[in-house]
Amino acid sequence: MTDRALIFGIGGQDGAYLAHLLVNKGYEVHGTSRDVDVAPFDGLRQMSVLDKVHLHSANLTDYGNLIQTLRTVEPTEIYNLSAQSSVGLSFDQPIETLNSIASATLNLLEAIRFLDLPVRLYNASSSEMFGDTAKQPADETTTFQPHSPYAIAKAAAHWLIESYRKGYGLYACSGILFNHESPLRNERFVTQKIVRTAVSIKLGTETRLKLGDLSIVRDWGWSPEYVEAMWLMLQQAEPEDFVIATGKAASLEDFTRTVFERLGLDWKAYVDFDPGVVRPYEVDYTVGNSRKALQKLGWSARLTMPEIAIRLVDMELERVGRRSTGTGN
Ligand code: NDP
Repeated sequence: MTDRALIFGIGGQDGAYLAHLLVNKGYEVHGTSRDVDVAPFDGLRQMSVLDKVHLHSANLTDYGNLIQTLRTVEPTEIYNLSAQSSVGLSFDQPIETLNSIASATLNLLEAIRFLDLPVRLYNASSSEMFGDTAKQPADETTTFQPHSPYAIAKAAAHWLIESYRKGYGLYACSGILFNHESPLRNERFVTQKIVRTAVSIKLGTETRLKLGDLSIVRDWGWSPEYVEAMWLMLQQAEPEDFVIATGKAASLEDFTRTVFERLGLDWKAYVDFDPGVVRPYEVDYTVGNSRKALQKLGWSARLTMPEIAIRLVDMELERVGRRSTGTGN
């Protein structure tokens, strides 16, 4: 039987890399967007897989629509990546965030249970669920202390996955992924905002970069590596949750400095503090421990900070260069 994957949220950063990975592994890949007729699918296009995947309009918060999608595709593996994924926006749109993550995941679990689908389910949990990790790298046993509506929604979805796995025997697991970046990351996210604005400053099209608290510390990885971990999790005989992280801590100031240094600029001359982007309840320090993933999946992060920041700058310079010569987007 052909392996048939269904990626909810295929139009996002991870969806594009995961689709690329699965197409290359010989899967028949299906993916959803809330509206395929208007979604740009830039990531799928950039990964040269747009014409190799089957796209469906589907919304996980609409149970009937979800049932119809699952019946049409009959997947052997499901990757639940769809979400309002911005922590910052979740403070402004908490209900939309809760619905798109917690209610959506519950709908998916209920649909799999009622249809009695023999399917393996990966769920996108998040390191935000841990809150501050108190400088002790978080692993699968660390207690959740979610700060934002986003993190609270992810924690609810995470526990629902565990409940349905234990209660109904579903093959369902969660990857607790720490921040992971790529050129496909939306500019809403601070790393991409820093890279794009710094390159624009270098090229003379912008002059200032506005940022919030630069002292926050994160564990930044590389998205194409993180989607490999998602796939590996679904190849295990038994479903289990895994923390996926680099184990390396870097502050937002480190990230900003590295980006500007790569461009030959001193960040302090261009960055302004903007109190408007400071979150009501921030996570100050978070870093992960992926020892279990190394032991059981054979997975470990290869790219870490500062290489990630440097690579993002170089790729953005290439992208801008291609656009100015009319040879790409
Ligand atoms: P993206 O934001 O790039 O993609 C998520 C997709 O979800 C969007 O493309 C969108 O697709 C869909 N979506 C569904 N409902 C909503 C909604 N209400 N608002 C906005 N978008 C919605 O996320 P990533 O690819 O970066 O992440 C994949 C998953 O992993 C997400 O669940 C995210 O929360 C989680 N995660 C990501 C981390 C990271 O560092 N990137 C870290 C930890 C977890 P469409 O508009 O086509 O419907």
